[in-house]
Amino acid sequence: MGFETGWIANPPYPGKPKAKRALPAYEKADAGGLGDASDNDLTATFDHGFIEVDPELWLEGPDHTLYVCGSYQGLMEYWIERAALGDPAYKDTAALIAEKYAAEVEALASFWEKKQAQYEPSKGGQQTVTLERSLKGIDGTGKQVTVTPGTYPCLGTETRRIPGETQLSPYSVSITFGDKRVLINPDTLSGYVDEHVVEAKSLGLANTLKAETIRALFAETKSLISAYVPHGQWLGDEHVHYVTSDEMGAVFVLEKMPASPDAVEGARRKDGDFFELGANTPGVRFGDHIFIQRDYLGIGVEYHEAVHRLAHPATLKILGWGFNEGATEYFTRMLVAGAGDSHKQVRPDGQYQSEREGIEALINLDVFTADDLAKAYFGGQMQALFDKAARRLGKDFSLQAYALHLQGGHASAARQTLQDLLTD
Ligand SMILES: [Zn+2]
Repeated sequence: MGFETGWIANPPYPGKPKAKRALPAYEKADAGGLGDASDNDLTATFDHGFIEVDPELWLEGPDHTLYVCGSYQGLMEYWIERAALGDPAYKDTAALIAEKYAAEVEALASFWEKKQAQYEPSKGGQQTVTLERSLKGIDGTGKQVTVTPGTYPCLGTETRRIPGETQLSPYSVSITFGDKRVLINPDTLSGYVDEHVVEAKSLGLANTLKAETIRALFAETKSLISAYVPHGQWLGDEHVHYVTSDEMGAVFVLEKMPASPDAVEGARRKDGDFFELGANTPGVRFGDHIFIQRDYLGIGVEYHEAVHRLAHPATLKILGWGFNEGATEYFTRMLVAGAGDSHKQVRPDGQYQSEREGIEALINLDVFTADDLAKAYFGGQMQALFDKAARRLGKDFSLQAYALHLQGGHASAARQTLQDLLTD
């Protein structure tokens, strides 16, 4: 195919400013491999369109990092980190998705208005709010408050959101807790994650699992994951940590198990918002270690995190957080669906649902196959995904832009954009 113009450096995530990162690049050695690290920061060269990229020339360098070949005016060739580049269709595809997203936001306004009115007692809404589990809220001074389960007077709504939470509702609900007026995030009041936890408990599945049990499901399930499951003890009990909500907050901040209750409090003081995000997250992986909140047993969190363990880093780096979570969840469900009674889990649909649906759309619309996805996700073979997407959708569609939009509420707009392109 040869070199193409129009590539960009550091493609932005939706709603985020363009990162000002230098572009990791190597000179191309005479033998074709990675030469010396480039002294020049190529970012400006890209911004002026002096560098062209050949999307068919890939190379895997140290630390499983993938590079593509770039050419400076036909004079000099470089290996440039693929994750730091956006393809020529990136901006146009991102603009199409942004347009669709704006239309969705408008359509959702009336949906949220109706939801919000439910919490306005003066407009005929409910007089009380019932919490099934404890919830973090903020008081009038912005200080964090833990609201325990119970039924509380409902005072109405405010447009402020609770800091540190991924809150979909464009408003928060005000309740009386003790002698205070406290704002809480209404997203979790519907509690669909809870339902599965409760169901898992009633079925006797809410148990902690040994690493051996987790490994056994990977070994027993016959699916396209099987080829990528290592033999031997790739996950040991020393890698599997069951933690409390506060410990998970600390794990997010420290990227490891907190050594003591003091370390938990230290982490909370160090980065309260990130701590809070962690405290509300069922599972996470750092390096070889997986962490599972004890409040989320029996719903497959261990398996989702263990799938992460087997991933090649290229998917996350090049196609972003949302695509990576969607693919992880796609394979987790494949794994759990193949489980017999001895490994039964109640996997909720709500876990990474929009990200997973973004992945399923690509497979259902024949952009690439589940097998292609497995080769990329577990084996780092990214090129086939891009080649197949270009064949199916043409050069005006950017798989990368689609992938980077599978998050932050943009996933459905991205999926709709893809569908429209293939059905027009
Ligand atoms: Zn995940």
